[in-house]
Amino acid sequence: MKPVDRSPGAPGAGRGKRQGKSKCALCAKPVVEKYSPFCSRHCADIDLGRWLKGQYAIPATLGGDDGASTDEQ
Ligand SMILES: [Zn+2]
Repeated sequence: MKPVDRSPGAPGAGRGKRQGKSKCALCAKPVVEKYSPFCSRHCADIDLGRWLKGQYAIPATLGGDDGASTDEQ
């Protein structure tokens, strides 16, 4: 039986108060609750645009279904 020291993660970047505020995923600015998880509507808009782009982007079907009629004999 050895004393297991449970250290909660890595408290390295723990400076000041821990308000649990996140950083904007786009510009790393402090997130505003109103636009969470972004810092502003601008960033939220950008992310939304990217997301929509991804939705519209139709992945090419790599099936190679060219030869539909296969003559088996
Ligand atoms: Zn931002």
